[in-house]
Amino acid sequence: MVIIVGAGLVGAALAIRLSQLGIKVQLLERNAFVKPSVKDGRTIAVTLGSKRFLESCGLWQALEPTAQRINYIRVFEQGSAWTLDYDYQDLGTDPMGYIIEFDCLLNALFDGVRNAEFVEVLDNCTLQQLLPGEVHTKEHGILKAPLAIGADGRHSWVRGQVHIKSKTKEYGHKALVAHFIHEKPHQATAWEVFQPSGPFAMLPMVDTHDGQHQSGVVWCGPKDVPWETLPTTELEQQLMDIFPFYGKVTLNSARWTFPLVALTVDKVTAPRTVLVGDAAHALHPIAGQGVNLGWRDVADIAQLLAEAKDLGGDLGAEHLLNQYSRKRKLDHKGLYFFTDGLTRLFERDSQIVSFMRQTGLAVVGKIPPLKKFFMKKAMGI
Ligand SMILES: Cc1cc2nc3c(=O)[nH]c(=O)nc-3n(C[C@H](O)[C@H](O)[C@H](O)COP(=O)(O)OP(=O)(O)OC[C@H]3O[C@@H](n4cnc5c(N)ncnc54)[C@H](O)[C@@H]3O)c2cc1C
Repeated sequence: MVIIVGAGLVGAALAIRLSQLGIKVQLLERNAFVKPSVKDGRTIAVTLGSKRFLESCGLWQALEPTAQRINYIRVFEQGSAWTLDYDYQDLGTDPMGYIIEFDCLLNALFDGVRNAEFVEVLDNCTLQQLLPGEVHTKEHGILKAPLAIGADGRHSWVRGQVHIKSKTKEYGHKALVAHFIHEKPHQATAWEVFQPSGPFAMLPMVDTHDGQHQSGVVWCGPKDVPWETLPTTELEQQLMDIFPFYGKVTLNSARWTFPLVALTVDKVTAPRTVLVGDAAHALHPIAGQGVNLGWRDVADIAQLLAEAKDLGGDLGAEHLLNQYSRKRKLDHKGLYFFTDGLTRLFERDSQIVSFMRQTGLAVVGKIPPLKKFFMKKAMGI
């Protein structure tokens, strides 16, 4: 038996995976375990590697109708002629990834948890104290398990209880997330446009129920941009000014804003405790990798726990936690430095840095092995 704290995209996936492997789970969630009444709005880029992981969890069949293939990725800097074009056919027939709405992912995961044989959900749960091997709760008393897994997000309670230090980087920026319908089809293309005020992504979504083309926007900029209150026609016009490729665009959703922050921790384990997902790392959404990284944590810890279970070992043993820590280190650090570096590189406004950026895009585009390397990284394979 293990205890997972947090039933978000990462904790719910871990509960399903462990149940499949025959490991009993108590999944503790502070909120009600029901479809959220308020829509989230995020359009999540799911890499090909994550698609395969979700398939192995038995979730893909439910997700497929809501998943828009990404066949092409185009990256460019505003005002520059250079673009970097990725084409899925360079690597085979699989798409580079998919765009799925956050709420569709969460619903499919919740259904998966409800159908999982070995998962007990304790929702509306108030946690009081974490000790090695024990979680103290208000509603259910003391729960005992050899391992507690913190999947409780960026402000992790578990992390605080075991005194793991974290460092938060505030970018001083926010992201506007909204969905737009547009005249021209998106041709399964994801766009990343770098501008001095911040990166902008146009992510292809499945057509609306009445057959209109739509895309999700992630538009990063300074905190004081009044996106929340801008008249709709002005917002649409600003979007068409930066992104004129889809003809007329019309806002088709609420507007959501998210603060842009990144988080790193000095370790991901403590006695009988591990961290996964945003509890262990949060990334700038520029590369759409946060939950993909979290699902890779899930795959690795699940595999280690299954091996220990088969050998009749202790699921919270120190050597097992050390193995997890070693396995995940490079992926965590590598992606943090990549996404953080990318934001810094593209926010500089000097001519020399601009020349380097454009040359960089051109060089990556012209050297097939380098291009394929970046493609595989983006696809999580
Ligand atoms: C604008 C934006 C766009 C993004 N786009 C992408 C993308 O395209 N691709 C991608 O891979 N990632 C993307 N991300 C990142 C992704 O959304 C996160 O990495 C992911 O949602 C984190 O999931 P999680 O389950 O680790 O944490 P969370 O979603 O924070 O879930 C934590 C869960 O723990 C519960 N919880 C918290 N505290 C307690 C407690 N004390 N007791 C019990 N339960 C508790 C919470 O209620 C919640 O259910 C984006 C992020 C943003 C902001």
